[in-house]
Amino acid sequence: MSLAKRRGFVFPSSEIYGGFGSCYDFGPLGVELKNNIKEAWWSEMIKNHNDIVGLDAAILMSPKVWQASGQLTAGFTDELVECKKCHRRFRLDEIQNSQCPDCGGELTKPKKFNLMMKTFVGPVEDEASETYLRAETCQGIYVNFKNVLQTMRLKIPFGIAQIGKAFRNEITPKDFIYRTREFEQMELQWFCEPKSAPKIFDYWKKERLNWYLNLGIKKENLRLKEVPKSELAHYAKKAVDIEYKFPFGWQEIEGIHNRGDWDLSNHSKYSGQDLKYEGSFPYIIETSAGADRSLFAFLCDAYQEVKGGRTETTKSAKEVEVVLKLARSLAPIKVAVLPLVKNEPKLVKKAKAIYETLKPYFMCQYDETGSIGRRYRRQDEVGTIFCLTIDFESLEKDDLTIRYRDSMKQKRIKIKDIKECLEKLLSKTA
Ligand code: ATP
Repeated sequence: MSLAKRRGFVFPSSEIYGGFGSCYDFGPLGVELKNNIKEAWWSEMIKNHNDIVGLDAAILMSPKVWQASGQLTAGFTDELVECKKCHRRFRLDEIQNSQCPDCGGELTKPKKFNLMMKTFVGPVEDEASETYLRAETCQGIYVNFKNVLQTMRLKIPFGIAQIGKAFRNEITPKDFIYRTREFEQMELQWFCEPKSAPKIFDYWKKERLNWYLNLGIKKENLRLKEVPKSELAHYAKKAVDIEYKFPFGWQEIEGIHNRGDWDLSNHSKYSGQDLKYEGSFPYIIETSAGADRSLFAFLCDAYQEVKGGRTETTKSAKEVEVVLKLARSLAPIKVAVLPLVKNEPKLVKKAKAIYETLKPYFMCQYDETGSIGRRYRRQDEVGTIFCLTIDFESLEKDDLTIRYRDSMKQKRIKIKDIKECLEKLLSKTA
């Protein structure tokens, strides 16, 4: 968390006013990382599959959608208890021995608490103008099922992918960006025949687990957990969570659900429109990942502290050094361009020219302040894949040194070859 704040990944929202209810802002490096995660997900869905198309539906929808989806009634209620002594509120499922976890006080009886965030559309705040911010992105997909099917001339099975914001008035937002009230989801809704649903469920379970592995998350930090029948969401016939081993324990980062025909049949009923496909309702297999939660998992997994420093060539005792071993495709900065010293105009001029040449093609940073060792450490700390150093030899030989983040190996490369070389090296995902 400290690194995330210090190096511009994540800031508390409205910080100058003391923060605001577990909302967070993504800083310059955070937005790059999050965009890279979303891009990796989008290309996996859209480019690597022939039968998946994209959508970007509005956050605000007709309030009837929320009646049909069951979210105003059955779903999206958590059971809440309050401590009679300190008045803190908790989710019932977080309570271990029917006492307040903070002060040991007596708790009230559980009450149902709806997580949907209410808002008003239009200038009059009456019941007719009331609606809700979506608590999951998928409803926008279901109500567009026929639009997409017809305009894209699709046949079942096919999928619709969407990335977007969702809002839940969580009772106990916690653990940094793990549980927040505003977050982003990356969801795939796959429409299929009921009889093929179990097989497709298994297919996506494996695919989604592999996505995290291919992006460098360690195998031992990921697991699949079948959700017991008693804990299934109101819409789900079957559910498996992908869990990541966070420093605070195993926690869900993605849910894979067999939603059956719950959504399309309810929307048919409430809207009066026929949402059947060739006479019957398709089943829906959903994969629902959190962009912010997976970003947190990617950060935790990549974060390494090295006692005494990483370099073995210098002997003096050093403090702990940090390296963020993010996958190549995810790292916010791919290349740092560094003149060996800053008070040598010829070196600076050459380094700046290289930076300008590479900038349109790779996410680059130029840095000339501090010793070269310090600058390498600053880059390691944010996961920069390559450092390019321009030294005095570069002026004569028209070459530079490329330093690899993970091995710290250094090689000399001709400046004319650098773009092609980086393209080749960065084409690897992990
Ligand atoms: P939880 O049990 O943690 O509340 P959930 O089972 O309600 O999560 P889903 O409704 O399955 O979550 O949502 C799918 C994904 O959306 C989750 O796996 C998570 O990555 C993300 N997500 C859900 N709620 C939040 C939240 N409050 N903050 C951040 N991400 C969230």
